[in-house]
Amino acid sequence: MTDIIQKDNPVLRKRAAEIETGELGGERISALAEQMSKVLAREHHGVALAAPQIGESLRMFIVSGTLFARRDNKGEIVEKHPDLVFINPRLTNTSKETAWVEEGCLSVEGLQGRVERALEATLEAYDATGKPFTLKGAGLLAQIFQHEIDHLNGVLYTDKAKDVYKLSEKTET
Ligand code: ZN
Repeated sequence: MTDIIQKDNPVLRKRAAEIETGELGGERISALAEQMSKVLAREHHGVALAAPQIGESLRMFIVSGTLFARRDNKGEIVEKHPDLVFINPRLTNTSKETAWVEEGCLSVEGLQGRVERALEATLEAYDATGKPFTLKGAGLLAQIFQHEIDHLNGVLYTDKAKDVYKLSEKTET
């Protein structure tokens, strides 16, 4: 079983490498995306995962399909959505409007903090089949985009957070 790498590991501090054009849509990348999905699915609080968090210093991250699933009025998932895969992502636009938002990280277990993030962010990336796409996110999705791009640049949210505190049983959901 693949473990999620924790904050003192130097792989989280490296600038991750671009995936070469010839590898886009290839088997190694789709296998890696699948492995990342399996690891993320085990994490009840996880909404996204970057490749360096499982030790692969490559510019790639996934966002959990649970954020896009269709739910009934009790919040139960009635139609699943696959995880979104972002390969060689680039932030092409972020809104000037920002907010201080609660943030945590699967590589910084047990802590949470407040980070200033743009309210909207647009990404250009390739999907697992090698097709380019653009996606604009707002709110939580914009926050995720910025958090994951930071991972690919060797940055952890705790570098930027105003205050970092231990998760209490109360705030953990
Ligand atoms: Zn993280």
